[in-house]
Amino acid sequence: MNTYLEQLNEPQRAAVLQKDGPMIIIAGAGSGKTRVLTYKIAYLMEQGVDAFNILSLTFTNKAAREMKDRIGKVVGYSEAKNLWMGTFHSVFARILRSEADRLGYPSNFTIYDTQDSVRLITAIIKEMNLDKDRYKPKQILSRISSFKNSLITVRAYFNNSDLQQADLEASRPRTGDIYKEYVDRCFKSGAMDFDDLLLRTNELLARFPDVLAKYQDRFRYILVDEYQDTNHSQYLIVRALADRFQNICVVGDDSQSIYGFRGANIQNILNFQKDYPDVKTFKLEQNYRSTSNIVRAANSVIDKNKTKLDKEIWTANDAGDSVKVMRTISDGEEGRFVAQSIWENQMNHQLTSDQFAVLYRTNAQSRAIEDALRKKDIKYKIYGGISFYQRKEIKDLLSYLRILINPNDEEALKRIINYPARGIGATTLDKLTIAANHYKKSMFDILKNINTVDINLNSGTKTKLQNFVNMIQRFQIEAQTKNAFEIADLVVKQTQLVKDLQKDGTPEGVNKVENVQELLNGIKDFITDKIETGEDASLTSFLEDVALATDFDSDKQDEEPRVSLMTIHLSKGLEFPYVYIVGLEESLFPSAMSMNTRSELEEERRLFYVALTRAEKGAYLTYAQTRYRWGKLTDGEPSRFLEEIDDQYLEYLTPKVPEPSANRFIDASLFEDDSPKKIRFQKPIQKKRKEFLAKKEKPNMVPPKSKMKKVSEMSPKMNLFDGEITVGNVVEHNRFGTGKVLALEGKGPNKKAEIEFSTVGKKKLLLQFAKLKVI
Ligand code: ATP
Ligand code: MG
Repeated sequence: MNTYLEQLNEPQRAAVLQKDGPMIIIAGAGSGKTRVLTYKIAYLMEQGVDAFNILSLTFTNKAAREMKDRIGKVVGYSEAKNLWMGTFHSVFARILRSEADRLGYPSNFTIYDTQDSVRLITAIIKEMNLDKDRYKPKQILSRISSFKNSLITVRAYFNNSDLQQADLEASRPRTGDIYKEYVDRCFKSGAMDFDDLLLRTNELLARFPDVLAKYQDRFRYILVDEYQDTNHSQYLIVRALADRFQNICVVGDDSQSIYGFRGANIQNILNFQKDYPDVKTFKLEQNYRSTSNIVRAANSVIDKNKTKLDKEIWTANDAGDSVKVMRTISDGEEGRFVAQSIWENQMNHQLTSDQFAVLYRTNAQSRAIEDALRKKDIKYKIYGGISFYQRKEIKDLLSYLRILINPNDEEALKRIINYPARGIGATTLDKLTIAANHYKKSMFDILKNINTVDINLNSGTKTKLQNFVNMIQRFQIEAQTKNAFEIADLVVKQTQLVKDLQKDGTPEGVNKVENVQELLNGIKDFITDKIETGEDASLTSFLEDVALATDFDSDKQDEEPRVSLMTIHLSKGLEFPYVYIVGLEESLFPSAMSMNTRSELEEERRLFYVALTRAEKGAYLTYAQTRYRWGKLTDGEPSRFLEEIDDQYLEYLTPKVPEPSANRFIDASLFEDDSPKKIRFQKPIQKKRKEFLAKKEKPNMVPPKSKMKKVSEMSPKMNLFDGEITVGNVVEHNRFGTGKVLALEGKGPNKKAEIEFSTVGKKKLLLQFAKLKVI
């Protein structure tokens, strides 16, 4: 048997060997779904299926790269390179580029990111003189997004009285008009937003049978990972493409469906069985990722969901440690606990930082964690914050590059027409917008014809505009002969972008200059990589990568190990030896916005299930009794999810029942002056918080700086007691108290003692760090 097939259990292997026809694997977390998908592709190729005929859709581009790598090991890298692999968005952006003219788009169309879309919608709302508090741009965008993902075009919207009625009742009767204008403006700008990449693919496949036939013929085998999170638009694309050969394999877990708010549809799993009546269904039930305590704890929570397919998950792995639960007084202390615990685990188990992840419900929670990690000198990487490419200085430079490729790109144009400042003001821009709308032309077309169009601008302004157009056109000519790096470098120099940033002189300014430099380096790396692999190294291809980049894509292999910080949504499909899930408080997790209906709450519970099942060896659940939210100190109650976990898998590091909290409804201090007896009401938590903050560094949470040296800085000589300790000694540890030495192992700096402490039970400690005193 092939060696890779030996790395599969019976049902996994059966699923891999099922070569043709529709099949579905719906199985619990960590049961090897992604592994099956990967090996199945290798198997198909071994069976003679051409890599060009295999399409595999993944949740991130990084997942696709890793898969390709693994497949490459089996079938050879040069063959694996030809696989069609990536996210829905990146694969179909590529297809849309080659078919763009069918839809009236230029092949170099721009991809608008969310920031571009929001800016455009904001501009439209302003032009239409609508109240931006009632028509909140982000809300409108998400409404438009849900239309697109349900294939409700502008025309369909205006034919649907229910939708219009809903917007009327929400006091936003002009939503449809904004939608129409938004679609028109994107089209005129030669731009597609993220949802268009799916919607337009559907349009392409629906309107042009020859195109459909071509891609049906190309993608003879289609595989989809994380199928539970596909939306309707994605579902229809897959269905159309697979219609001819019906070699379609989807894998997923209904219990991990967490993108319902973005239109993901659990129904797709059920539809699958209807769409393909002769579907083969495979069950995977063994979890290979986690200790049995973690698997069982996760099962006990997800069991509370009513809506789920019937499936069991078990593991042959050891019971492992209990899942630890920690209550802290404040979010700050929560951060310090996490940092301290990571540090201890690193020391106790000789681990590097990349073996840890901290997961949270909302991005805002990262700050307290970051502060604490930084104080302890633990390196971390944060995913999903403001991405590098969203920073102003980077976006400005990218906008220049976008214009060179697609001069009609209105959002890019608006960013740079007066940056660096060249005396083109907001009024001029407004007049240009009006003219562009009037002539039904792009803004750049108006600029090119500024002396002939009917526009009320003085000759000085017209000259400035003319100079701007000349500059862009010069760059465009240069771009024909220069590579992506050379042209970006030229743009930076000629526009004096960097000079402008340097003028500012502040540390932020310096930082921005470095970022621009970093982008240039990035373009250079991109070209080298692409040339090496024989792929498209053009500027268009670079900009597409940037538009569809996720934070994971910027991970560098040679970087030093770092703790990963991310929202639970982003952690899907990943695994880490140690996972900290923080902020387990009612209203935060489950989120206050998702507690109103059973289905919302069940989605939150699935989210918790996803979080917990990322952990291999250790899971920590923390909650804070007080937390700063929206600039205010708020009291928190433990999340219901903590209660829902079967107690036998948990260990409370702090007593389970918190101290009584202050009366939330009446501020006790109101009574202080009036009260004849001067009764003092206490606010235990807030007081504790004050005490805590006053102490600054609590000795048992944050050791003094001198004790926080990195491993490399620590000399084995530090251990004064090495050799003195023997089995049976009673020793004292400055945090765990007294304990008895049960066993010793290892030598020199690796010498460890197993100690039974009266407070915390058994621990294995490295002697050189433990600083034990024999008593
Ligand atoms: P998720 O639901 O989180 O996406 P999954 O079902 O896709 O999980 P994988 O990521 O494929 O699961 O596998 C989980 C872990 O178990 C991985 O580290 C994988 O390498 C390992 N694994 C899977 N199958 C086996 C096996 N038969 N033998 C040993 N290890 C396995
Ligand atoms: Mg997976």
